Formats: sequence, structure tokens, C-alpha cells
Amino acid sequence: MSPLTPNPSRLTSKPVHRAVFLDRDGTINVEKEYLHRPEDLEFISGVPQAIRRLNQAGFLVIVVTNQSGVARGYFSVADVHHLHQEMQQRLVDEGAHIDAYYLCPHHPDKGLDEYRLDCDCRKGKPGMLIQAATEWNIDLSDSYIVGDKDSDLLAGIAAGCCPCLVTTGYGEVHRSFADARNIMICKDLMDAVDMILARTGICVTMSGSQVITSED
Ligand SMILES: [Mg+2]
Ligand SMILES: [Zn+2]
Repeated sequence: MSPLTPNPSRLTSKPVHRAVFLDRDGTINVEKEYLHRPEDLEFISGVPQAIRRLNQAGFLVIVVTNQSGVARGYFSVADVHHLHQEMQQRLVDEGAHIDAYYLCPHHPDKGLDEYRLDCDCRKGKPGMLIQAATEWNIDLSDSYIVGDKDSDLLAGIAAGCCPCLVTTGYGEVHRSFADARNIMICKDLMDAVDMILARTGICVTMSGSQVITSED
């Protein structure tokens, strides 16, 4: 190699991060249809401790949440931000934090204004994860998504992350989807974090085979 050949490692200006993407409703907080009032926010048991462990392990912890209640006119984007401020404060009080919150306010066919849109950010599409990966220099293939619906798992798979279903929230409804694809199933976020921290980064299913993403 010529001494003038640049060292590839010097071309990377920022370190590459691992992330755990978290669905919000039914994964972090108790599912309450179209939650938007801070006083209605209720963490699922063990969640602040689970997030703190991810923080301490060096993972970025990033919320990716579909909030079609905005498109439907039930609440505003400002209401969502306000709720996330409350969530963040309660987590900080427990020594934990979320690094970033991404939301999709759209719905493909509900609502009448600019939020009625067949967007790329609504999970099961991977738009929010891809945007976060760009903005935070995340290696998606070394990252996870944890959620309680098939749309969370599909978004993660499409982004190249390792998916994990929790059976809190709507998780039991989507268990068969995960089972059929050999996707990991955990009883709650604390359990999922146990699993993530026990791994060395390669995405394999509980049975040791690669995640199956086909629809057959
Ligand atoms: Mg959910
Ligand atoms: Zn969207």
C-alpha cells in the first residue's frame, strides 16, 4: 500500500453507534388508546431500569413511534413533544434517558390535512430508523428494535435490525406473527434488555437460525 493511501479509519469522522430502537405505546408505557396527556403516562414495570441498563451499556436508545392521532386530529405534534418531555423527565429522575424521539404523525387514509399521507416513516416502513441512523451514525445491522406489534418488527427487519417482540401492550395479538418468523419474543422490555445484553451482536433467533423475513 502506498504511504499516500488514506487510512480508511480516518475517513470516518464520527464513531459508529449501536442502537436499541424502542416502540413507545405498549412497550415503554402502558397502552392507553391515543395517549397524549402527560398525566396519563404510566411506565410498564421495570422500564426506567431497563433503559438505564442500555444507557450504561453504551447503546443509543431511540424512540420510534407512530402517532396517527395527529393525522386523525385527536392531538397535535406539540402535544406529542410535551408528552415526550414528561417521559424524559421521569426517566432522568430514575437515572435513565432516551437519546432521541422520532415520530410519524401521518396516516395513509385518515385525516384531511397535510398529515394524510402514505409516508415512508410510518412503521412497518423503516423511514424513522434510517433517518436516525443517518443523524446518529448508527450501524443498523448491529442494532435492535423492540416493539409490541408486527409493524415494529417489519420496520426493524426492513432496516436490517434485529427485531424483538414484547408481549406487553398488543404483543400477544402479534405473537403468531413473530412465531412464524422465528423472531425473539420477550415478556417485557426488561426481559428484552436481558437478552440484548447477553448477546455479542450477531442477530440470531432463539433457535439459533437467521431471522426469517419471507411471507411464506
Ligand atoms: Mg406499540
Ligand atoms: Zn409518517
